[in-house]
Amino acid sequence: MILVSSCLAGLEVRYNGTHCLDNKIRQLLEDNQAITVCPELLGGFSTPREPAEIVGGSGEDVLDGKAKVVEKSGRDVTELYVKGAYATLRKAQEVDATVVILKEFSPSCGSSMIYNGEFKGKKIVGNGVTTALLRRNGIQVVSEERLADFL
Ligand code: SF4
Repeated sequence: MILVSSCLAGLEVRYNGTHCLDNKIRQLLEDNQAITVCPELLGGFSTPREPAEIVGGSGEDVLDGKAKVVEKSGRDVTELYVKGAYATLRKAQEVDATVVILKEFSPSCGSSMIYNGEFKGKKIVGNGVTTALLRRNGIQVVSEERLADFL
């Protein structure tokens, strides 16, 4: 089974209430090869919510307590992001996911680039918190941007 970011499947769960449908992802769902997951909703957030970015590092640093996830207004939401990451890991293990396809640039789901924590639209190399935890547990994570190479 493949686990995919809910927003890539067309569900309006992004922080601003939108989705980012990818037709290849939709096809996987229609073929019953994939199921959806949204780490931030599993962490306890609802939609819409404030945008958040990792401040002080990458997803690995958040897991190690060396960086945090902060909303634009300044609220520290690290705990909820970590909670969502562990809930996603449990789900991936329950369905024995062979691969997890997550939305690039998200502080949860990014798998090669994330925003730099300044809320200025600047990206840096790094993983989201969920991606970091999944990879630490030996689960393959790919970005929707690399899907063509993978499928
Ligand atoms: Fe999409 Fe991941 Fe953000 Fe949920 S947490 S809206 S699945 S990018």
